[in-house]
Amino acid sequence: MDAPSPARIAAVVVAAGQGLRAGQPVPKQFAPWRGKPVLLHSVEALAAHGVAPIVIAIPEGADAIAGAAVAGIDGVRFVTGGATRQQSVRLGLEALAGDAPALVLVHDAARPRLGGAVIDRLVAALVTRPAAIPVLPVVDSLCHAEEHGATMGAPARREDLRRVQTPQAFRYAAILAAHRDWQGAPDAGDDAQVAQAAGLDVALVEGDEALHKLTFASDFSGALPPVRVGSGYDVHRLEEGGELWLCGVRIAHTHGLAGHSDADVAIHAAVDAMLGAISAGDIGQHFPPSDPQWRGASSDRFLAHAGRLAAEAGYMLGQLDVTIICEAPKIGPHREAMRARLAEILGCDAGRISVKATTTEGLGFAGRREGIAAQAVATMVLA
Ligand code: MG
Repeated sequence: MDAPSPARIAAVVVAAGQGLRAGQPVPKQFAPWRGKPVLLHSVEALAAHGVAPIVIAIPEGADAIAGAAVAGIDGVRFVTGGATRQQSVRLGLEALAGDAPALVLVHDAARPRLGGAVIDRLVAALVTRPAAIPVLPVVDSLCHAEEHGATMGAPARREDLRRVQTPQAFRYAAILAAHRDWQGAPDAGDDAQVAQAAGLDVALVEGDEALHKLTFASDFSGALPPVRVGSGYDVHRLEEGGELWLCGVRIAHTHGLAGHSDADVAIHAAVDAMLGAISAGDIGQHFPPSDPQWRGASSDRFLAHAGRLAAEAGYMLGQLDVTIICEAPKIGPHREAMRARLAEILGCDAGRISVKATTTEGLGFAGRREGIAAQAVATMVLA
């Protein structure tokens, strides 16, 4: 029997999980990894290998983000996934009923490094068997765990065990029937279990370490630096009478700061430091001084916005160090209130915030009390 032609091979890609363990601001299958969305990597590999159509099971309401992730790939369509992986796969298989492919590959989107060689080995195995899965040997020694993992039980023979990956390959009609007949736990671990329960013989083929499943935030650290640093600097002019806000705290003083918003020069420097750390421009770009809606605005919203942008980029604040440069007022008496307020705005522990002050020995504009300057350094860490 000849191998089925690649044109008769379809795929179901499971991208319906929320993937929250990975700590990404969007479900991990849509998060950027090595320059593009996780999902796109394997969909491109399947398409390049002549696999079509490719049905992608996605979370409810994720049409826009999923569509953007695989824009431009031919032969892709979406189904809304079910409550469990097994249900999502079944819905994906049902969506292929009209195409009646000879074979189908079922693949987890979170395994982006899909190479053609694994697909070829799977398809070759399907010449003689109805199902095939890629597996790898176990290199660590193994044991059973007892007492909720607290105590070593019997040793396990690693020679008898394999690590199971995806894609898993099936004759389409057989796996569709198996999913329709599935009576086991709704959270079946994978499709090979469903196939086996239906009496299908499952071949083992050599897997690929590159098919490692992205699971934890550390899996994404190859794409995102673990630590990023940004600096910010700002100056505002002192004017007699106005309100003086520094680090979100109003301070009684003979002069206030003039300018954009409430002119909280310290927060503005902090915002620029945070934006700089995630390469997201500067405060003027996000809140243009020319836009009347920001006139007199409280600067705490600028800082909260920078915090949200950082979270969307996958980062949280490691440390924020703000230095205020002025002859007066004295900052020391307000330091703890400033740290507490900045921490409150950013939703972090005050231990992550430092506020310092210095004079310029009477030199320059700050020394002449014409204005106040502030600088800040923000260290952002992968969330
Ligand atoms: Mg400013």
